[in-house]
Amino acid sequence: MGEFDLIARYFTRPAAKAALGVGDDCALLQPTPGTQLAISSDMLVEGRHFFADVDPGALGHKALAVNLSDLAACGATPLAFTLALALPRADAAWLEPFSRGLLALADAHGCELIGGDTTQGPLNLCITVFGEVPVVNGKSQALLRSGARAGDDVYVSGTLGDARLALEAKRGTLPADVSAELLAQARQRLEQPTPRIALGQALRGVASAAIDVSDGLLGDLQHILQASGVGASIDTAVAIDLIAICAHPAWTAGLISLQKQLEWVLAGGDDYELAFTAPVSAREAVLAASRHANTPVTRIGRIEQDPGLRLLDAQGKALPGSFASFDHFA
Ligand code: ADP
Ligand code: MG
Repeated sequence: MGEFDLIARYFTRPAAKAALGVGDDCALLQPTPGTQLAISSDMLVEGRHFFADVDPGALGHKALAVNLSDLAACGATPLAFTLALALPRADAAWLEPFSRGLLALADAHGCELIGGDTTQGPLNLCITVFGEVPVVNGKSQALLRSGARAGDDVYVSGTLGDARLALEAKRGTLPADVSAELLAQARQRLEQPTPRIALGQALRGVASAAIDVSDGLLGDLQHILQASGVGASIDTAVAIDLIAICAHPAWTAGLISLQKQLEWVLAGGDDYELAFTAPVSAREAVLAASRHANTPVTRIGRIEQDPGLRLLDAQGKALPGSFASFDHFA
């Protein structure tokens, strides 16, 4: 199978939204009048972001999901994406499930594959997504990191720390008596995250700032704090309940220390939930957005004038210690 057969067989779909898809020197996109394009790229490298033995269908899903998560964080509606792919060999047994996993998620979000590049080399994937956000009265509705203000509430969607639990299982650091059913559930969160696209869109005009949680809640929240020139306090007694797996009836209490669970929630990484802020006056609107998007949200803290991030216990007292989040070069 040659390069062009491979592209034709696994990565060519008739264009529906795009003016021109795969097959020419460029694809052509026609943005809806009155919108801005939102653009984001993410690269996945073997050994760094996934293991060599990862299921190719799950990898196809995840490669697009992490990009869609960035669109979600901006409140953008997905339009299209490109795929740059380095492959060790043209292996149909790998390409078939990979493209199926990738395109299934793309179809679910109406996000078309409109082009890319294919080359031989160590397995490496880079996706660029294009989305759009409305401009209303000359003002972009995109959710940015820079809009948080003192007094705003801090929220997070869904659950946190489950992907980290799956990673610890892969590393062999979990006690042997963790149930297989729970590990399968955690692995699903690690390998096939759900981008919070509907929530991001529903938060347009409601949230003051947003980011997607890819490297760990605290680290990603710091980006909002820095961009907005503010600080925050996080209620750890609320946050610890965000770890879904440990709240599951099949979980054996005490298997993992509370300190570890909190660490996974606050700095676990690979969650692909949204962390966002909104004024207190928007509490009803946030709940309405959550219902509309069918995505739970939890209020976990508040934005303050004082720079820095403070972790509070159930009594509102500051906890000592810090939790590092993931940094590729740290
Ligand atoms: P060029 O040499 O002009 O850059 P290519 O020969 O690399 O074009 O690609 C031919 C067509 O196939 C282009 O439309 C390109 O966008 C598309 N394409 C290449 N690789 C992929 C891929 N992995 N997924 C989707 N489209 C691809
Ligand atoms: Mg060309």
